[in-house]
This record gives sequence, structure tokens and C-alpha cells, in this order.
Amino acid sequence: MLVFRKPLSGIARPQMEADVVIIGGGPAGMACALRLSQLIDAHNADNPGSQLNKENIYVLEKSREIGQHCLSGALLDPRSMRELVPGFEKEAPIDAQVSKESVYFLTKNSKLKFPITPPSLRDHGNYVISLNRFVKWMGSKVEEAGITVFTGFAGSELLFDGDRVVGVQTDDKGVDKQNQPKPNFEPGYELKAKVVVLAEGPRGSLTKQLVAGINLDSDRNPQTYGVGIKELWEVPGGRIEPGEVIYTMGWPLTSKEYGGAWIYGGKDNVASLGFVTGLDYPDPRLDPQRVLQEFKLHPFVAGLLQGGKMIRYGAKSLPYGGWWAIPPVAGDGWMILGDSAGFLNSARLKGIHLAIKSGMLAAETTFEALQKSDFSAATLSQFQTRVENSWIKDELWKVRNFHQGFEHGLWAGMFHAGLQQITGGRGLRNRYPSEPGHKHLKKLSELPPDGGDEAPLLGPYKGDGKLTFDKLTDLYHSGTRHEEDQPSHLVIHDTNICEQRCIKEFGSPCQNFCPANVYEMVDDSSAPNGKRISLNPSNCVHCKTCDIADPYQIITWVPPEGGGGPNYDGM
Ligand code: SF4
Repeated sequence: MLVFRKPLSGIARPQMEADVVIIGGGPAGMACALRLSQLIDAHNADNPGSQLNKENIYVLEKSREIGQHCLSGALLDPRSMRELVPGFEKEAPIDAQVSKESVYFLTKNSKLKFPITPPSLRDHGNYVISLNRFVKWMGSKVEEAGITVFTGFAGSELLFDGDRVVGVQTDDKGVDKQNQPKPNFEPGYELKAKVVVLAEGPRGSLTKQLVAGINLDSDRNPQTYGVGIKELWEVPGGRIEPGEVIYTMGWPLTSKEYGGAWIYGGKDNVASLGFVTGLDYPDPRLDPQRVLQEFKLHPFVAGLLQGGKMIRYGAKSLPYGGWWAIPPVAGDGWMILGDSAGFLNSARLKGIHLAIKSGMLAAETTFEALQKSDFSAATLSQFQTRVENSWIKDELWKVRNFHQGFEHGLWAGMFHAGLQQITGGRGLRNRYPSEPGHKHLKKLSELPPDGGDEAPLLGPYKGDGKLTFDKLTDLYHSGTRHEEDQPSHLVIHDTNICEQRCIKEFGSPCQNFCPANVYEMVDDSSAPNGKRISLNPSNCVHCKTCDIADPYQIITWVPPEGGGGPNYDGM
């Protein structure tokens, strides 16, 4: 019997008061904390009689150490960092400046190089970084500035007073598999805050509660997502230069799926490679981890990696919906930043610079609110205004219809992208509509059993253990660790749907789209179709794909006990 995680009821919880609580210590949250500290320091220096306090500003981060859950390609457009920390290049961990770039269209055995790099993929001047190391560095600046970062604490529920957000409840620790307190039980805190800043990354669990709870998405396009599956490789010298960037389109995906690959040359002969698959593909048998494995078998990629060694693995979703899918980003007592809001340029495959800028603008708004002691929607909505008057809007407006153009396949997408390029992002109309990605999934009865002529890559993959890997081998390289004796943090609201409908209608696609082997349909003669759903929550790498891609929308990802999850050291 599966038992799912939920905050224990009837428990006396310790209370704490805060001015500002930032949920999530990624680039957006850290930029917000650092900018707020800078503004307070400058104010206090100029106004000795009116001191603002930094002691009650907290960052909550669910990972054991700062940066451990941060994963990206990663290329950094330095624009916002230069505004936040001028001259940051002198002290931040940067692998290399981009010096060479190329884009290829792949077929199974050959490649076609684009004669010129499309403008959106030109990366000269950007930096190859490890987001994990970069955020660790940002975190050290935040702590040096006197702001407390609580690691190992997840926000499990928002606290409301009517429609106003008044704080957050942190996770209960020491709860067993049956959702009962263990001897080491520690109840979560009720952290009352004047402002709650949601910087949880893509598909944030509290952001999801807030957006659904007060219908923030009512006149927005639905947010759509991709999942990036990444491996870090040590490769023999001379294969890829530090600062070399390669993008590919095409194989192993067909024209029905959206996605592509990156290969970035870092320092010390380490290459980052990964494949982003749009989570709006039609065939429920497609497996994004397998897509990456097949990609490595292409002669071009295999040649780069041969004789090398895979050293790290991870996965993360990314929001593709663009400008029209961003919800209102501020209200009574709350703001939403970075990937949680959807600040990502999907044409450029970049969001770190936007996350940082959104954190800075949220900090400027929070600073004003602290000065006025007014945390109402009227004051915090200045964040919305700041975003709309900033280069975030300029950048995202030009690609406002980009991903929607690809919802009907690659060739239609190329047509729309070309048209949008020459019409400032408009294309055929100002606002292209969109559908949630899971609505693109077809039932098995609507598909040819073998995938047809253009067969995408179906089902799990064994791997050869050298160039390609099965999921459990890959997972081992993610450093994932959770407390085993805790309830499942993957909450399935009705397992009857899994065992009676999904297994027949979609073939249990959770087994395919999860990159960490969390979901399994195991034999059980007492189950209606001979299989019951079984979960391995300890494997979860927190990518949120299941919460996004499940065709019945009955899976909710909630944070496991704080401190659990992957260890994306160097990713
Ligand atoms: Fe990702 Fe969900 Fe699998 Fe966890 S269980 S790794 S969030 S798909």
C-alpha cells in the first residue's frame, strides 16, 4: 500500500518571524538575496538614522549544500551578472569563454552543418560554466553579505490569510513510510514572512499551489516544458576545446518531436552534453533518457566521446512557454521569479541570465516595500512593472511565439520561426495559442505498434556500459540520496487510474518519461490488469517531469524530507 507525503495534522509547530523568505537557492533566489543586501547596505550607509535590518531575510534551500540541485547546460549570458557584481569574471568560477560554435542537423548516420549559425544560437562572449559551482559561489557571496541560507529545508505549504500569502511551512523531518512520526521527528516551522519570494526553479511545488489556488493562469497560455537529460564526460585531450559549443537538431528525434542537443567544452577536458526533449511529444513510449543514449551513438558524437568516461548524470525540466505563459509575478505578500515564473528564452535555450535579472528586480521591489512597510499587491506589483520595463521583456517579446510554432512539428516550426524572425516575434498573429504538453500524447490505439516509419526511440535502454547506459547506471552518477524511511513524495492522487486506465490507454508512460526509474509496473495477479504501480522515490532526481507529463495529471511532486535529492557536483 503506497502512502504519500503530506504535512502531519494536529502538530504544534514552532513559529518564526521573518521579513523576507526566499524559497530556493538557485540563481534567481541568490541574485535576489544578494541585490537586496546591496540595497540595504547602501541605504544604511547613507541613512545612519534609518537602519534596515538584514537579519530577518532568509533563503530556504532544499538541498544539503548550496548548489547541489542546480543543473543546467550551462552557458551564461553575462549581462545580468555584470549588473549584479561588476567584474564578476575575476572571482566567479568560469570554465571558458565561448570561442567557437556550430550547429548541425543530424540524420542517423550523417550530419549537415548549418552554413551560418542562427542568430539565436550565437554565443560568442558567453561563458561555459558549471551552474552548480556558479551558484555555490553566489551563495558564498550571499552568506558573506550576512544573509542566512538554511540548507536542507524545503517549503512544504504556503501560509495564507485569506488571499494574502503570509509565510511558509517548512518540511516535517523524521516521518516514516506510513507518514507517522519517528523518534527523531521534528515538526516543520511556520515561518511567517512579510514577503515570500518563490524561486523554486521549474514547476515549483509552492508556485503550482499558488497559481492554481488563485487562478493566476486564467488568461495565460498553459506553461509548456522540456526535459534536459545531461551527462558530464571526461574526454581525451583535443576532442573539444574549452569554449567550443555545438548544437544539434534532428536525429534521434523525428519531425514530430521538439528538441535538440548541446555539447559544451569545459576546462580540464570535461565536456557537458545533453539532450532536451520537449514534453509535448505524441508517442507515450518515447523515453528521453534513451534519446540521449541514442544520440551518443551517432558517429559524430561517438567520435568525440570514444575513450572518454561519463562522470556525472542528471535531469531537469525547463519552461518553454515564453512570455504568454508567464503568470502575474506579484501579489499580496508574494513574488515569483526565474524558472518558476517561466523566464526562459527557449529560442536561445537560456534562462540563467533572466533568472538573475528577475531576482534583482524582485529585490528592488522588496527593498521599496521594506522602506514603506507595505507588502500589499499594490507595492509588490511594481515587480511586474519592473519586468515589463526591463530587457527581460525586450528579450522575451521577440520570441513570444517561438515554442508554440513547433507544436505541430519541426517543419511547421521552422516556417513559423523564420516568419517570427522577420516580424519581431509576431509571425502569423500576435499571440499564438498553446496546449499543455501532456494533451499531445496519443493513446496506444491511435499509434502503430512499432512507432511506424518515423519510429521515435521507444522504451527503456540497456546500454553498453561504456558509451551508453541504462537508467540505473546513469542514476548512480547523479549522487542521488534520500532518507529511505519516509512516505513517497510522488503523490499519485488515484492509483486506480494507473492500474485500470493508463496501463491500457497509454502503456504506463511514467516508466518511460521518468529519467530515474522511479515508476515501475510490477506483476500482481490481484491487480485488474495483472500489474500494480510501485514507486522508488529514493531514486528521484527532482526533475518534475512526472508532474508535468502524466496524461491524467494525477501526479503531484512535493518536496521530500529536506536534504534529500541529487548531488549535482560540477554539473
Ligand atoms: Fe523526475 Fe518525477 Fe522521476 Fe522524480 S519521479 S526523477 S521528478 S520524473
